Amino acid sequence: MTTEIDINAPLPVISTSEAPLLQTRDLQAFYGKVEALQPANIQVGAGQIVTVIGPNGAGKSTMLNAIAGALPANGSLRGQILLAGHDLAGVAIEKRVAQGMSLVPEKRELFASMKVEDNLLLGSYRRYQAGEKNYADQLQVVFDLFPRLKERRNQEAGTLSGGERQMLALGRALMAKPQILMLDEPSLGLAPLIVKEIFHIIQRLKQTGVAILLVEQNARAALQVADYAYVLETGQIALEGIAAELVNDQRVIDTYLGLAKKNH
Ligand code: ATP
Repeated sequence: MTTEIDINAPLPVISTSEAPLLQTRDLQAFYGKVEALQPANIQVGAGQIVTVIGPNGAGKSTMLNAIAGALPANGSLRGQILLAGHDLAGVAIEKRVAQGMSLVPEKRELFASMKVEDNLLLGSYRRYQAGEKNYADQLQVVFDLFPRLKERRNQEAGTLSGGERQMLALGRALMAKPQILMLDEPSLGLAPLIVKEIFHIIQRLKQTGVAILLVEQNARAALQVADYAYVLETGQIALEGIAAELVNDQRVIDTYLGLAKKNH
């Protein structure tokens, strides 16, 4: 006998009112036997921007992918991930999306030969599948946030500039109407002026009420938009605090801000 799993069925309600939107409890991640993330405890409150900064290879993407349920095949995890108090153990990635998590991966993963608008609509596919009549209601919101995407709505995604592709990746994630948007290095490979624009948009996104978990190597830009920050070094949370205070922390200044170019 086979059991069909309904990915759109709501998770059982435990007690959610007091719980942070997202919380990890001693979350560990492994590639084979190698521990890439040591027990990590992070929290994101509703509507907050929380950043995880740290150098190349520190484990930032690993943490984000573990939370999203998107670790590669050789990856595994221990510990707990709670979304509004619900334990996500064994919950498939599609169901995590249905419950309000939206990941923008580092590689952006757009469909180059498809039009900008169709790439956006793909972001609402799960809502369409679930029978939501107004599944495309975020399109106007996305076009308001990114007028350039509106101008280029009929162009193939492959013709966009790097910055516009990042905007499209963000816009597509927003089409799912997430409670929490998880961004993996949105500034990667972009020119300083475009980075500035992307971070302004991230700040504006906050006003829409969506929470954001932002993984970044560009510590200066990330700390400027974030409410709270974690510093990840070689798989371990080395430091955490209110972002506006970490900007003045000597260790953060020496390691991440001292020599960093002012992009923001
Ligand atoms: P980056 O900014 O380069 O993406 P990061 O902080 O996101 O860095 P991760 O990509 O999470 O770091 O990598 C953490 C560690 O895990 C690194 O040592 C990396 O080489 C290793 N790693 C990442 N993916 C895999 C994988 N699929 N298999 C084995 N090791 C991996």
